[in-house]
Amino acid sequence: MAVLEHLTSQQAIDLENKYGAHNYHPLPVVLSRGEGVYVWDVEGKKYYDFLSAYSAVNQGHCHPKIVGAMVEQAKTLTLTSRAFYNDMLGNFEKYATTTFGFDKLLPMNTGAEAVETALKICRRWAYRKKNVPENQAKIVVCENNFHGRTTTIISFSNDPVANTDYGPYTEGFIKIEYDNLSALENALQGNPHVAGFLVEPIQGEAGVYVPSEGYLAAAKALCEKYNVLFIADEVQTGIARTGKLLAVDHENVKPDILILGKALSGGAYPVSAVLANDSIMEVITPGSHGSTFGGNPVAAAVGIAALEVVKEEGLAQNAEELGELFREELNKFVATSDLVLKVRGKGLLNAIVINDSEESSTAWDICMALKENGLLAKPTHGNIIRFAPPLVMNREQLMDCISIITKTIQDFEG
Ligand SMILES: *Cc1c(COP(=O)(O)O)cnc(C)c1O
Repeated sequence: MAVLEHLTSQQAIDLENKYGAHNYHPLPVVLSRGEGVYVWDVEGKKYYDFLSAYSAVNQGHCHPKIVGAMVEQAKTLTLTSRAFYNDMLGNFEKYATTTFGFDKLLPMNTGAEAVETALKICRRWAYRKKNVPENQAKIVVCENNFHGRTTTIISFSNDPVANTDYGPYTEGFIKIEYDNLSALENALQGNPHVAGFLVEPIQGEAGVYVPSEGYLAAAKALCEKYNVLFIADEVQTGIARTGKLLAVDHENVKPDILILGKALSGGAYPVSAVLANDSIMEVITPGSHGSTFGGNPVAAAVGIAALEVVKEEGLAQNAEELGELFREELNKFVATSDLVLKVRGKGLLNAIVINDSEESSTAWDICMALKENGLLAKPTHGNIIRFAPPLVMNREQLMDCISIITKTIQDFEG
């Protein structure tokens, strides 16, 4: 494969265009190396990564402790399937359940699989614990949700880009407005077949929508009142991204079912998980759910290392402090800018809203200019740009990034 080592960016892009399905529309940058908050393209240009692989790389690129754990385990034992025990999974389950305060963990690989797992657990719980009649269980979800890409998950998406012509869709979901407690109560009231409420503590893909303060705690209380499981999808918001270990921690909410993915791996290797207490998790019985790769020893080693790094390096605290600084500085800029309407977010999960239509190319063009100036970010929903750097960033680097962002947009304003 010596030829491949000399690929230029354009050659790499051409290859993907010709031989790869076009299910993404990437920014035209070809990355070949990463370390901490930085990535490099094949021509050697260095960038700040302000996407962090959709918050999978919270611990920074190629974190030595995570990569070290992965390599060491990969040399020893990689996969046994769950037909046999392996000597790493139990360690991971103990470490993660202790960290997050649940009785049990069910390991999967990707976020979408973990969401699917949570939906199955919730439905089983409805039939076996709440006595919902067969096939009648309903799960309440929010408009503009993003929970992954499987057929069932896109069945309750209202993004036409994600679900058009993929029907017939899976039944059993009730969609309500996000951040609307009376809509939630209306859905639960007089509807004894509702089994769960699936919610993102902050809607990331939708454009970093932070709900009103108190929403999550009040929603949890409503779920308790109507004997409905509160299912938190923390695949993007979890693992220190928003300034606490979990985004629900900001309101001291303990979900009945917790879904984790992305940074549970530090971006090294796919690791996802569903956590719940015994009274719920015990509905899962041998053979009723599984995954060939779920809970493999490499994933278990990576998962432990990824969580240890978050604790050892105080990443939640850092995200909290740098997030405050980021919004403070960006707010000063917004006050002077016609092009940026607002900045919003929590911790280091933030977004700016561009003063243009969703169909306009302005946000994309700004991201192209940011790329030229050494910072990588990607628009979401046309006129919103998400800013989510690795949480290992320091103050000086963040100030440098803020200067790149504001100068780039100023140039753009002409
Ligand atoms: C990314 C994401 C998922 C899906 O994770 P995959 O690993 O891409 O399947 C699910 N829920 C949320 C909130 C996400 O951000």
